[in-house]
Amino acid sequence: MTRLGPEPDYPLVQLYQEQQPRTSPLIIAGPCSWESEYQMDTVFQSIVPFVDFVRGGVFRAGTYPSREFGWKLALLREVHKRAISAGKKNVVDVLDIRDIETIDPYTEVYQVGMRQAQHYALLRELGGQRKPVILKRGSWMTYDETMGAMEHLLSGGNQNVFLCERGSVSHLDHVRWELSISTIAKVKRATNLPIIVDASHGSGVADLVSSLALAGIAAGADGLLVECHPDPRNSLSDAAQALSFDEFHSLALKAKEIYALVRD
Ligand code: MN
Repeated sequence: MTRLGPEPDYPLVQLYQEQQPRTSPLIIAGPCSWESEYQMDTVFQSIVPFVDFVRGGVFRAGTYPSREFGWKLALLREVHKRAISAGKKNVVDVLDIRDIETIDPYTEVYQVGMRQAQHYALLRELGGQRKPVILKRGSWMTYDETMGAMEHLLSGGNQNVFLCERGSVSHLDHVRWELSISTIAKVKRATNLPIIVDASHGSGVADLVSSLALAGIAAGADGLLVECHPDPRNSLSDAAQALSFDEFHSLALKAKEIYALVRD
């Protein structure tokens, strides 16, 4: 096969310019899963002054179907109501193109979880929307595959996208996933894409989350996504990685300082 000449590398990524450059890190927080209205009230009371976006699962793509919680649309409506009255954007994970219509009224920002990170049909569909989209890098994906996924997302014309680094599979067994700080540095060096560090899923170990999130900000991340819970050890999901509100508050303050320092 004759090649007609070198293909441009990631043409849509290369053209991408952030709409509104930020002056402080984007802070996204919430529990792994929304569990009850009581939990929701406690979370909102504690995190609202520190966050831009609120996140929390209303269904779960569990490793085993028997451990999925199923849809919790009533909770999604309640979360959305609280987010709107607090003036915050509600981030909702979307697994399937067929779910978009159902969750759209309660969603200001779509998140594509890592297991869907190469679901190109979903990425193209969300690229055709105008709401912001956060794409989590799959734990197996190379830099090239990640840029390819971003090309699919950008191909619909959506100019409000974020990449999220949430760790890779590795041989290390002191963490669940190994956060790739070098991916953050590389993306900031090679593109104008905004990238967010998720050290909660990127380690799976609560004691390490704050240090790793701050390392991500120091490497150039535009913001952080973190799981916190009123009673971390008793969180219904991802209990081992949830921060307390005090830990979250301290992390958010330090992240602002480091963000300002590395961008001077
Ligand atoms: Mn989680």
